[in-house]
Amino acid sequence: MYCPFCSAEDTKVIDSRLVAEGDQVRRRRECLSCHDRFTTYETAELLMPRVIKANGNREPFDEEKLRAGILRALEKRPVSLESTEAVISQIKHALQATGEREVRALVVGEQVMEALKGLDDVAYVRFASVYRSFQDLDEFRAEIDRLDSEGRGDNADSVGDGSDAQ
Ligand SMILES: [Zn+2]
Repeated sequence: MYCPFCSAEDTKVIDSRLVAEGDQVRRRRECLSCHDRFTTYETAELLMPRVIKANGNREPFDEEKLRAGILRALEKRPVSLESTEAVISQIKHALQATGEREVRALVVGEQVMEALKGLDDVAYVRFASVYRSFQDLDEFRAEIDRLDSEGRGDNADSVGDGSDAQ
């Protein structure tokens, strides 16, 4: 990198060590022109990409929104919170691993479907059947909320084993 003092192009690394428990590399550099020394810190860029919504708007990745969508799909399903959190980490990791600074909302939804497929069939079908008609998690949640309020009528718990059918 350029020398911050004289802007010369050639600097050499005279010392390099891991810091911050291995999360950073600290490098001591010396400018070959003015011989001033300076320090740089290098860290891996693991930022979550921004999300491009269907209407073209960009939003910061919202983990809470993702979690809410997944929890909706998993409602009353025999899936532990631990497995749920593992799936959320898996999705975040997959998004980080794209190396993209922006990803389409659709890509996030596809990742959720992939993850749910391996976790719980019912949650997967719930999510996929609703999500596929929508462009992003906002619309998905709005639809689930609507279905929810409709389903919370008298017959909400009528799907039993049939023994009390009469
Ligand atoms: Zn210099």
